[in-house]
Parts: sequence; structure tokens; C-alpha cells
Amino acid sequence: MGRLRSEGRLKTFYYVIFLLAIFVSIEKRSCYKADTMVSAHSKKAESPWGLKRYEGRVALVTGAASGIGWAVALRLRAEGAHVWLADLGDRAKTACAGEEMMSPLSIDVRDETAVISATVIESSGHIDALVNCAGIVLEGSAQATSLTDWERVLAVNLTGTFLMTRHVLPHMIARRSGAIVNIGSDAALVGQRNQAAYCASKGGVAQLTRAAALDAAPFGVRVNCVCPCFVDTPMLSAWINSSSNPEEARREAAATQPLGRIGSPAEIAAPVAFLCSEEASFVTAVVLPVDGGATAQ
Ligand code: NAP
Repeated sequence: MGRLRSEGRLKTFYYVIFLLAIFVSIEKRSCYKADTMVSAHSKKAESPWGLKRYEGRVALVTGAASGIGWAVALRLRAEGAHVWLADLGDRAKTACAGEEMMSPLSIDVRDETAVISATVIESSGHIDALVNCAGIVLEGSAQATSLTDWERVLAVNLTGTFLMTRHVLPHMIARRSGAIVNIGSDAALVGQRNQAAYCASKGGVAQLTRAAALDAAPFGVRVNCVCPCFVDTPMLSAWINSSSNPEEARREAAATQPLGRIGSPAEIAAPVAFLCSEEASFVTAVVLPVDGGATAQ
């Protein structure tokens, strides 16, 4: 009887261990995504699930010293790419100092001469993926925006994206391969108050994406656009901190997005990495909202 009871206890013990093992493995899987997102803000981002879609490939990311561009650079490198980081002045140099598989380019994307020299130097080794992320935001209604502000926003967000595309596409077309991802915005998809120049510039980026995708498609080159809403970057922090009640502004921003929170840069980098990769080989001319559901309402 006593032996039976102790055998029963042993069985229960093994059963509990078995259940615990299942629980730990499920928990580990669900934590993986969060870990990846957190680590993407550091310099130690690892490729989730060991994805290595860019081994031996080269990527160029503009606006790469900060926010979404930096997260994209980390993600592509984690998947094996050599990444050229392009940003203003010394910003890229500082961001990738001491980093392996990263090289800095000092480019103002508004400056065609700088774009040409940078893309020619870089593309001698070829570019498999171009991510146009450099951008600025200036607030202002249609009636209050000055011509100077209008031209400044359009020059960086739209003309910059155009110039990079114009000078990288020929190399991709010659090689019959490559992918471009432009970073748009929810402001490319819906109108927003007090954002006349920004909305116009991002709407232009969405349409440039579609037009360039059609031009490049016969050569096997793809062009897509990712449209975030509120993402936790220095650009968003600057906007939140300029409000009279930053805490309230942050809460409101999170509430705008049906998922109920602000996105992380790594959550934008993930679809960008997919669209740049061969896994998206039949995806082109897509303008993809990655906005926690914001533009569905
Ligand atoms: P961010 O942290 O300010 O990064 C943008 C980077 O682009 C900065 O390093 C900036 O340098 C650089 N840049 C600005 N003008 C440039 C130029 N002429 N040439 C080269 N680089 C230039 O902003 P982010 O939030 O990561 O934004 C990245 C992209 O996502 C932008 O296109 C933005 O419109 C878009 N987006 C962001 C959000 C969001 O909530 N964060 C939402 C929707 C769309 P400086 O800092 O010196 O200006």
C-alpha cells in the first residue's frame, strides 16, 4: 500500500515537472519577441528565431543614426548584412563607431551631389537593399505653414527619398535584383490637422513608391513603403515634450492606436526587414500600415 502511494507521488511529481517544462518553453517563446524588441535599442540586437536573410548582402539605410533607421540597421546587420548608415554630418560615424558590419556615410539626402558620390562609392560593392528613413516633421496648418517650412519638409521627406531612389535604382536594375523600402507614415494614408507639409510629403512618398515599383518591376527590383503611426523615437519624444502636458500627450498618442500603446522602432524594423528580403519576392508597390491599427478607424 505504502509502496503504491509513493509510486503515485512519484508519478504526480513527474507529471508536475512535465507541465512545468511545457510552461517554461511556451513562456520562453512568447518572451522572445519582447527580448528582441528591447535588445534592438541596444547595440546587441540578435536576429529573432535565428533568421539570416542577408548573409553576404549589403544594405544602405538613411536617417540611420537615430530611431527607426537605427533599429532597421541593427536588424539587417543581425540578419547578416553589411549596413551603410547614412545620416547628417558625423551622426552616422558616431552611431556606428566600433561596430562590426556597419560603415558610416555622411549624406544630406537633399543634396544630389552628396547622394551621387555616396551611392557611387557604396554601390561599387552593390546595394541589395535601400531603406529611405531620413525624415523630419514640422507642424503647421495649410494656412499657417510658411513656404520655407513647406519646402524644408518636402526636401527631406520626399525629394530625399526620390534622390536616393533615383541614384540607387540604376545599380539594382543593372543587377536585376534589389529592394527599396520607403518609410512613410499614417500621414501618408489619412489627413491630419496641423500637419499640411508632413502629410503632403508622406502622401508623395506613398505615390512615389507605387510609381517607382511599376518602373522597376520589369527588372525584378521591388519598391515598397511602410507606414508607422506613433513610434518611440527621438522624433516622437521631441513632439511629446513640446506639448504643454507631455505625460498626457504620450497617453493620448498610445490611445490613438487600437493596440493601446506606442510602437517600438524594432516593430517597424521587422516588416522592413521582411520587405527587403527574398521572402517578399512577390511583394511590390505595397503601402503597408504598421500602426497598431490606427488607420483602420
Ligand atoms: P528620428 O529619430 O528623428 O530619425 C530621423 C533621422 O533622419 C535623424 O538622425 C535625422 O537627423 C535624420 N535626418 C534628418 N534630415 C536628414 C537629411 N536631410 N539627410 C539625412 N538624414 C537626415 O526620427 P524617426 O522617428 O526614427 O523617423 C524615421 C522616419 O519614420 C521618418 O521618415 C519619419 O517621418 C517616419 N515616421 C516616424 C514616426 C514616429 O512616430 N517616430 C511615425 C511615422 C513615421 P537629425 O536628428 O539631425 O534631424
